[in-house]
Amino acid sequence: MAQPAFVTPEAVDDPWQNAQRQFDAAADLLALEPGVRSFLREAQRQLIVNFPVKMDDGSIQMFEGYRVQHNLARGPAKGGIRYHPQVTLSEVKALAMWMTWKCAAAGIPFGGAKGGVVVDPKLLSRAELERLTRRYAAEISVLIGPERDIPAPDVNTTPQVMAWIMDTMSMAAGYSIPAAVTGKPLAVGGSQGRNEATGRGVAVVALRACSHLGRDPRESTVAVQGFGNAGSIAARLMEADGFAIHAVSDTGGAIWSEEPLSVERVVEHKQRTGSVAGFPGTRAVSNAELLQSPVDVLVPAALENQVTAANAGRIQASLILEAANGPVTPGADEILAQRGITVVPDIVANAGGVTVSYFEWVQDLQSFFWEEKEINDRLQHIMTASFETAWEASQRLNVPLRLGAYTVAVQRVAEATTARGIYP
Ligand code: NAD
Repeated sequence: MAQPAFVTPEAVDDPWQNAQRQFDAAADLLALEPGVRSFLREAQRQLIVNFPVKMDDGSIQMFEGYRVQHNLARGPAKGGIRYHPQVTLSEVKALAMWMTWKCAAAGIPFGGAKGGVVVDPKLLSRAELERLTRRYAAEISVLIGPERDIPAPDVNTTPQVMAWIMDTMSMAAGYSIPAAVTGKPLAVGGSQGRNEATGRGVAVVALRACSHLGRDPRESTVAVQGFGNAGSIAARLMEADGFAIHAVSDTGGAIWSEEPLSVERVVEHKQRTGSVAGFPGTRAVSNAELLQSPVDVLVPAALENQVTAANAGRIQASLILEAANGPVTPGADEILAQRGITVVPDIVANAGGVTVSYFEWVQDLQSFFWEEKEINDRLQHIMTASFETAWEASQRLNVPLRLGAYTVAVQRVAEATTARGIYP
């Protein structure tokens, strides 16, 4: 398909350039002071580590990992750790910058960070995964800590991985430091509701968006790309709110069903077989078909760069909820805006995870734990406020929701930067 004339060239594969481009649009709109702009446009600290791991067969294998702190103006850095064979420094930098804006948009007193290791964890034994995690944690311990930079789960990292990181840091210190990491198991200072938080936040903004767009959730069909922590839980909670889920996918394949899927049964099938593929009564479709399927709401919940200038013209959904980070590129944004498709941006849509991570950190620091209802009520409150503030800004400025949300977030970080002044 020929690209429409208004599409500007984009570095589709370079998340960092895409993140900077999104920032630039907000900085232009805010007429940000040039010095502050050039500071916020860069990542403050970037650590690359190359480290050995003893494999089960006695051999030693080298791995590369990263920890990037984009900005610390509003508080300690916060951001997940990703294990994936295609992790790059560019990706981790982009994810760290998005964390800065996400925390600011949600009004959470953190800066932005992210980490990653170039590894396919599915190829490691549990013991190898533990040794890799502990060594990576030790390598990045020069940056992380409860007052400095607090990791959390991301793609392919789990509460168990977080427990190993917490234990590694605690062993080095000689005492337990539960607040060093969030997304931990409950047994070691995790929070009620953290595992579901990202999906729950997506479900909250789904309802808010529908309300503003005059759409009835009970008459809305949905496709979800990526059936992991964020995607499967968003699907389950949206189903409970009346949305009809017709398509889901994971790395094993994508499925389409004429009848609404039972998300609980798809979860059981995935637990049994390792993938959503082959779920009875469904048709196998390609990843491209899933993204372009005839639904009202598309929830990309896998990786970056899924909706690009190349396929944005074929998206049929009128509402996109970015459960993943960076799934829609700036070039795609332009096309989607021209077509009147609403995109709830990642920095708003998937902020539920970092919000309950913040609650977990606060609980750990106080050694006083809250009940799940309190967590979910506070999460609902923050997600609603973040969505409404972004919506109001986008209406007032007559810009897409992403740019509206960015102006709010960038303004808050710029204000903190200006108030603190430039050291020394
Ligand atoms: P996860 O590892 O639990 O799940 C990822 C899922 O995506 C898996 O089901 C995997 O099979 C699937 N997947 C990967 N590549 C795919 C592809 N090309 N097509 C279809 N499916 C594919 O990870 P997660 O924590 O759910 O993270 C998913 C996204 O949500 C990421 O962008 C992450 O940064 C973002 N996110 C996660 C959290 C969180 O708290 N976990 C918070 C905010 C944002």
